[in-house]
Amino acid sequence: MDGTTKPLSVLLIEDSPDEAELIQAMLAQSRREQVRVEHVTRLSDGLARLASVPVDVILLDFSLPDSKGLVSFERARAAAPHVPIVILTNLDDEETALSAVREGAQDYLVKRHVDNELLLRSIRYAIERMHAERALWESEERYALAVSGANDGLWDWNLTTGAAYFSPRWKAMLGYRDDEIGSGIEEWFSRVHPDDNMGLRKALEAHLAGNQPHFEREHRMVDRSDKPIWVLSRGLAVRDTAGKATRMAGSLTDITARKRAEEQLLHDALYDALTQLPNRTLFLDHLGLAMEQARRRKDSMVALLFIDLDRFKNINDSLGHSVGDELLVDLARRLTQFLRPGDTVARLGGDEFAILLNDIHGASDATHVAERVLDLIRGKLVISGREVFTSASIGVALSNPSYKAPEEILRDADTAMYRAKAAGRGCYQVFDQTMHRSVVALLRLETELRQAVERKQFVMHYQPIVSLEDKRIVGFEGLVRWRHPERGLVSPARFIAVAEETGLIVPLGWWVLEQACRDAREWQRVVPMNPPLYVSVNVSGKVVMQSDMYERVVTILEETGLSPANLRLEITENVIMDHGDLALEKLAQFHRLGVQFSVDDFGTGYSSLSNLQRFSYDTLKIDRSFISGMDSPGDASAIVKTIVALANMLNINVVAEGVETAVQLERLREIGCSHAQGFWFSKPVDRSAAHAMLLQAPVW
Ligand code: C2E
Ligand code: MG
Ligand code: MG
Repeated sequence: MDGTTKPLSVLLIEDSPDEAELIQAMLAQSRREQVRVEHVTRLSDGLARLASVPVDVILLDFSLPDSKGLVSFERARAAAPHVPIVILTNLDDEETALSAVREGAQDYLVKRHVDNELLLRSIRYAIERMHAERALWESEERYALAVSGANDGLWDWNLTTGAAYFSPRWKAMLGYRDDEIGSGIEEWFSRVHPDDNMGLRKALEAHLAGNQPHFEREHRMVDRSDKPIWVLSRGLAVRDTAGKATRMAGSLTDITARKRAEEQLLHDALYDALTQLPNRTLFLDHLGLAMEQARRRKDSMVALLFIDLDRFKNINDSLGHSVGDELLVDLARRLTQFLRPGDTVARLGGDEFAILLNDIHGASDATHVAERVLDLIRGKLVISGREVFTSASIGVALSNPSYKAPEEILRDADTAMYRAKAAGRGCYQVFDQTMHRSVVALLRLETELRQAVERKQFVMHYQPIVSLEDKRIVGFEGLVRWRHPERGLVSPARFIAVAEETGLIVPLGWWVLEQACRDAREWQRVVPMNPPLYVSVNVSGKVVMQSDMYERVVTILEETGLSPANLRLEITENVIMDHGDLALEKLAQFHRLGVQFSVDDFGTGYSSLSNLQRFSYDTLKIDRSFISGMDSPGDASAIVKTIVALANMLNINVVAEGVETAVQLERLREIGCSHAQGFWFSKPVDRSAAHAMLLQAPVW
């Protein structure tokens, strides 16, 4: 300390005037430093001083009027914890003074034995010791803070002996108590994760050999309960004069949380959160690799199955998103279990999944899997206690060298999937190049159709519906045709699907309905019949879903003057299944108005006979595919017979569609089918031909 420059300030707390005088006199004799003494006679005055004036040392008498012995020391120290205290005592009280020293007093002096030399030395010594203690305490505290603040474990390795020190925190990070880990360096290496051992040793060696200025390595260790934890090891070697490392010390930081967060981020970027399947990004990555491999191997191919659930939106809307989610998770699980280890299943989004089949040897391998996937998905599932019917459409694409990017094969599988949807869903289609061409053609069709709707380039044809009892016309089904400027009359089979997809079916549907109602009303006027002639109009699900459907139909009926009782709306079973309660509500509304409903193409769609009663249809139109099978006795006849019998029982009308032969007609009559329609009677004809047919009143 630099007592030579600054005067030494001493607080003397001493009640005896003689002794105070004596001590002050001794202090005044100091030659090394100037000493300034503050003298008080009571402890309380001394404490007050300490609060206002800084002092270098306290000389404290042990018998004061207001305080005695150890208590005086404790209070003084509490008032000035960093100021050294030297106790002044009498011979008889040496014991107490000694205990004060044990408690932290710097020294004690027996007053009778003191001389100026001893006094000054004691004071200087006390001050110096206090400084040293304080410095040590501060550095220890800083060190302790640093260690605990960084939460790091420390290690110190003697390279000569192989002994190592591991701090308690180092051990605690691995789940051990301080006494549970020894002091050899193997205590560390034996707990390194086997996969990371080599890397760690290499990094250590690189630094010890002097090739790396620092040692720093992220690696895994295995903790006490055999769980891996991620750590960051850092260290620095101490070298002898020859540059050889003799000792190395460093720290160990637990970075498990950070690693987990990093892994999570990576996982989230590549996996679907709901199903935990790879997402589109990761799938394309796998696909790219697989295509690369297939290119190199001669007889190996890659196939892609693009899976889209049928009517998933319907499930979501009617049963709720949580049921939809559960369905997807369940499906993901089943697809994963079903696949071979090398194959990948991914969720591309929504209800779209993709399967990558590696190393297959031909298209039939892929279609075989597609069939099995269809079987896997098709059927009834019970989710959250509710029955859900599922099916899927699958597009299959096979790799060939002309594919440059994985996106291309995915696009083609997607195209094939749409084909499968168009082919009636629940099936698969394999992509071929004509599909690509037809995608282009489809785009052109869409543009042209849009123009046609704007310019009303359509015409209505009508096909008679005949009563089998008296073979007379009871109504007409309206069937639209497109009057294409170059291609002439285009069949609805060519464009209705596109019109549905693009929504053009809605304006087209209103046009059709109005034409049909107007024509029917006109015929009713010219050819009155009893009961009056009715017209049957095909209505798309898209139209049913229009919120103003009811009002628009009412308006058309009012404007054309056709009675609601003479209008029949034809919808397919799928419309009901797709739109559920909402469709049923509309049905009921129209029923109240007197409009009737026919189920078109009955038997091909979704519902079953058990739904008939629930939906209270007026008429079933048995699909042509059943009728055409009736020429020869067998299943088809049996099915038609059952449908007719059931319909009769439920008081529902039946129209057999697509009757082409006398045999079919005869069978239908035997079965008890009441109405029929088909080329046997007449093809759909234009408005004036239909008019003529009515006037002529043919009996077949
Ligand atoms: P659909 O409603 O089942 O109509 C019956 C289809 O079967 C008509 O085909 C008709 O020409 C055909 N057909 C009738 N009798 C026979 C037969 O004996 N043998 C054969 N092979 N075929 C017969 P078209 O006119 O080509 O219509 C096809 C489908 O297009 C219709 O099937 C209907 O679903 C739809 N469609 C037609 N017009 C419209 C419309 O205005 N709106 C809507 N939404 N769809 C329509
Ligand atoms: Mg129809
Ligand atoms: Mg039909």
